[in-house]
Amino acid sequence: MTGHPDANRSPLMVALPKGRLAHQTLEMFAAAGLPTPSGDNGRKLIMESAGGAMHYVMAKPADVPTFVEYGAADLGVCGLDTLRESQRHVYEPLLLPFGFCRLCLAAPADRPDTPLRYESQPRVATKYPNLTAEFFRARGVNAEIIALNGSVELGPLVGLAHLIVDVVETGNTLRANGLVETRTILEIQAVLIVNRAAYHLKRAAIEQVIDRLRTHLAAQPT
Ligand code: AMP
Repeated sequence: MTGHPDANRSPLMVALPKGRLAHQTLEMFAAAGLPTPSGDNGRKLIMESAGGAMHYVMAKPADVPTFVEYGAADLGVCGLDTLRESQRHVYEPLLLPFGFCRLCLAAPADRPDTPLRYESQPRVATKYPNLTAEFFRARGVNAEIIALNGSVELGPLVGLAHLIVDVVETGNTLRANGLVETRTILEIQAVLIVNRAAYHLKRAAIEQVIDRLRTHLAAQPT
């Protein structure tokens, strides 16, 4: 943001989810002409662009909305799944064209119809306890939610759960573990999020980021 009045004052702090989404975000920011760090920053958790106008905080994906809601970062990028599960209050000015997948309810392939017909309480394993509870509550089903941190597909295989709620991209992981999708709970893609106070206090700088991204995305072939 050469020549921007705020460039020499406080840098814009951007929280990114370590991993593929962070790489895709930095590629998109660079292609949109926004300042990004040069070269490989190894294990550094905060990376500065040349000139220091933007700082990038590398966070665990689920923590990105927390950093942004508390103002530790002005901006962030995360998946809609992470954002909705976090229940954090932030602005969401721009959906981004990557990170496409879906949050699904899945059941064992030999019992695909059971999910919403349980007379007794179904046990549901998931990394998304809030979204899962909301889904069943809205349907009047009294589900027992079992929160896991990974390999949720194991749940039905080892008798821990009847059903799972998890992120699906190709469906290969479900198929490989004898599960089928029975409902889509949320269509997911990456989203730019903004701290609500920063949006007003650093409005010019933040709007410049959003405008550059919008212009860049509008010029992309669909
Ligand atoms: P797939 O076999 O392509 O359906 O991918 C499913 C597995 O990858 C699940 O264990 C998911 O938790 C994980 N996964 C796939 N896509 C994403 C994504 N965009 N974000 C986070 N996790 C994902």
